[in-house]
Amino acid sequence: MISVDEARRRILEHFHSLEAEKVPILEALDRVLAEDIYSNIDIPPFSNSAMDGYALRFGDTVGASRKSPVTLKVLADLAAGHTTRLKVEPGTAIRIMTGAPLPEGADAVVRFEETSEGLRGGWGPMVEVYKEVSPRKNVRPAGEDIRQGELVLAKGTVLRPQELGVLASLGRPEVEVIRRPRVAVLATGDELVAIDEEIGPGQIRNSNEYSNTALVIRYGGIPVRLGIAKDRIEDIKAKIREGLEAQVDLFLTSAGVSVGEYDVVKEVLASEGEMDFWQVNMKPGKPLAFGQIRGVPLIGLPGNPVSAMVSFEQFARPAILTMLGRRVVEKPEVEVIVDEDIIGGARRGFVRSVVTKRGDVYHAKPIGGPGGSGILTSMVRANALLVVPEGTTVVKAGERLRAQMLDWPEGVEV
Ligand code: AMP
Ligand code: MG
Repeated sequence: MISVDEARRRILEHFHSLEAEKVPILEALDRVLAEDIYSNIDIPPFSNSAMDGYALRFGDTVGASRKSPVTLKVLADLAAGHTTRLKVEPGTAIRIMTGAPLPEGADAVVRFEETSEGLRGGWGPMVEVYKEVSPRKNVRPAGEDIRQGELVLAKGTVLRPQELGVLASLGRPEVEVIRRPRVAVLATGDELVAIDEEIGPGQIRNSNEYSNTALVIRYGGIPVRLGIAKDRIEDIKAKIREGLEAQVDLFLTSAGVSVGEYDVVKEVLASEGEMDFWQVNMKPGKPLAFGQIRGVPLIGLPGNPVSAMVSFEQFARPAILTMLGRRVVEKPEVEVIVDEDIIGGARRGFVRSVVTKRGDVYHAKPIGGPGGSGILTSMVRANALLVVPEGTTVVKAGERLRAQMLDWPEGVEV
């Protein structure tokens, strides 16, 4: 028996960041930047108004108030996207909209609310100003956001919507990011039938293909679905060949890896590559295989649907994120107060639970009911896996544990 941490360490040793590729920026969402991004422009490129109002010379507003307004001559009306050759001279103003370039001569903007336009509505050849403004008031100077030549986004950054917006403002339609791993998903077992087939005697539908494929997608991999291999040497070999031809970066199989049982899956995997068959000190999800087939890593998940998902989260998720160039690959955890006594055991427990937030504190309640590793609807009812350390006899209600949040897919980069 090996510990969960030891199994994870032995697996992750074989993974590293994949190489970079150039993609349109919208395909780069949630991926890791593989180049430093410098700006070749100032952003904003020109000084402009931060408000709808009047561009003027701040010196003209000295002493202005509602009781003693300053009256200025309105030279023009300037919308965003337009420019003017007119110059703001003492005693004049240009009506200006947010984002329009600050006209020559002007050094501040007074908002409509502080003028006769704000008071009475409408505008004309003259405007009254009711407030004194300081220099550069309501003006966004050129380069305020980004300076030409500046390093804006560093290699290794995970690209979120705001980073994509910045790339767009820099005029970068494409960007270098770490490519996504291609992950083969293979279900094994004589008892399995495909989703659209009738179930015959002794048969069940292949659900692992779908939950595992969905997890691959959720964590940023490109799934390569190999369907079902019957427990026959030729069948399994053919599927592996298919995966190798599709140039996958990782094989994920399910079932047929329990220690002790006679299984062709184990036999074939062991003959086709270098494979270890472990018993991991966890519940659910004890059997696990790991090795390489012609240089491609293979994680052999257990067959039971809950065990397969829990094992995926512990072992396949960090492997995929590592290939994606992510630095943080740990499943996000929160500290929770358990609301019921929980019986522990020799193995590390991943207890399907519902975590809720009350005030500032997270509480966890095991879902109860039938909790076998074949009960996939228990995962439907859970939103977290409560981590009960190995060797725990009992956790009393009110004590604290950590919980892995099933619905927080991202690791937190801080
Ligand atoms: P095994 O690891 O082959 O002993 O399988 C353990 C349990 O998981 C058995 O009850 C199998 O029928 C079930 N099982 C295996 N593969 C799948 C699958 N792809 N979808 C749903 N259940 C499965
Ligand atoms: Mg089997």
